[in-house]
Amino acid sequence: MTGKCRIWRSMFMRWLCRIGRAKQRLIEERCAELILSDEQLREVCQRLLVEINRGLNKDTNKEATVKCFPTYVRELPNGEECGKFLALDLGGTNFRVLLIDLGPHVFHMESKIFAVPQSVMLGPGTGLFDHIAECLATFMHENQVDVSPLPLGFTFSFPCSQEGLTKARLATWTKGFKCSGVEGEDVVKLLQEAIARRGDIKIDVMAVLNDTTGTLMACAWKNPACRIGLILGTGINACYVERLENVQLWDGDHDDPKQVVINTELGAFGDNGTLEFIRTEYDRTIDQHSLNPGRQLFEKMISGMYMGEVTRLVLAQLTREGLLFDGMGPETLFEPGQFFTKYVSEIESDKKGEYTCCRQVLEELGYDDASDEDCANVRFICEAVSRRAAHIAAAAVACLLNKMGQKHVTVAVDGSLYRFHPHFHDLMVEKIRQLINPGLTFDLMLSEDGSGRGAALVAAVAVRIGGLAAR
Ligand code: ADP
Ligand code: MG
Repeated sequence: MTGKCRIWRSMFMRWLCRIGRAKQRLIEERCAELILSDEQLREVCQRLLVEINRGLNKDTNKEATVKCFPTYVRELPNGEECGKFLALDLGGTNFRVLLIDLGPHVFHMESKIFAVPQSVMLGPGTGLFDHIAECLATFMHENQVDVSPLPLGFTFSFPCSQEGLTKARLATWTKGFKCSGVEGEDVVKLLQEAIARRGDIKIDVMAVLNDTTGTLMACAWKNPACRIGLILGTGINACYVERLENVQLWDGDHDDPKQVVINTELGAFGDNGTLEFIRTEYDRTIDQHSLNPGRQLFEKMISGMYMGEVTRLVLAQLTREGLLFDGMGPETLFEPGQFFTKYVSEIESDKKGEYTCCRQVLEELGYDDASDEDCANVRFICEAVSRRAAHIAAAAVACLLNKMGQKHVTVAVDGSLYRFHPHFHDLMVEKIRQLINPGLTFDLMLSEDGSGRGAALVAAVAVRIGGLAAR
């Protein structure tokens, strides 16, 4: 290269760098609304506390967005539960049937995943419950447990108003389900009717619960400090152990223990406008195109069903503005639902400065020639979206910890978003520490398969403390 060429080349490179840095700065500016200050997160905590108290209060519960349903689960496991139990787990990506053999501090589990076709998820309720009963019957025949009736725990992870341990009326469908004729109905009754229609199996439904309660129970079985269950999967939700004196809604007896697990259904936080101060145009677009517009607004900013889509909307918008991929980008980026939440985890698992996974994801999307600069910017955007999700989830946990005021609480967490995102746990721990009241301590514990094991444990505790009378 001649001297003149070298000078031209170096000027050109400097110019490119300057454009790159300018673009980066503009991307940072465009993403600023996704970065929440501690002050904003404290405000989220405070507003959530107001909504939880409105949910717990008899006079305000009707209009409350965070419904705080008492679950009728009041005793936690003590490790001595034993016997064989069936469990059903419906309410997310997979539907499962489980057979759980509990002994003192040991358990054995057989399970099978069954698909729930989209047509069933959106069809009539009888079709859904017939499908569930058919899968249960198949499983029971295969595992030869169809002779005498076994106790069953039914994990049904949608907002339900409970009227007893085995009576739960669906308040509203969420997370992609919309079967007709189920809202307002008792889902245990619908299950029992479907089983009766078949006539080939017998079960004894001991409890209906949601996955948060299952997660709490599964963790409490091993760890008595566990007092909160948190789901970060398809949806987000949390439950916690509340003193009966704080639950005006409670219509059961006031015997010991004077506590009950509250299913907050905090995914609906923000449905009355309280989160508008942090929601963005991306959150509004997601909501407008969802099956349940105006509902579950907190969930739509965080959970696995939506986080990939929030990321895609930011990537697509900044590409349109010419700040990414030289304004072109992969076509799939402009198609709803094509950027999965797991891509965010993959992109963020690259070591800083390396882009192997990022390139793989972009290739999967049909884009082969991403520059390092593009990859760095894509990662920056993924981090902004996932950090926001982790921080507002942390604000919710901090709100519960502050409300409970117990010196040390273990939080049981389940869900693929928490489990597989490489930084979610650390981001949450760091932020919760900053948001909780002085003197409180906590830990986040992965509670594996709460929705299966927990269902068996709730059923087992019901059997232990009084069998059928507990229902
Ligand atoms: P569910 O909540 O339905 O019981 P999961 O806990 O498996 O099921 O959560 C499913 C959600 O997790 C999906 O919405 C999916 O997008 C998300 N997900 C799956 N894999 C990953 C991953 N590697 N990183 C982040 N999110 C993931
Ligand atoms: Mg689950």
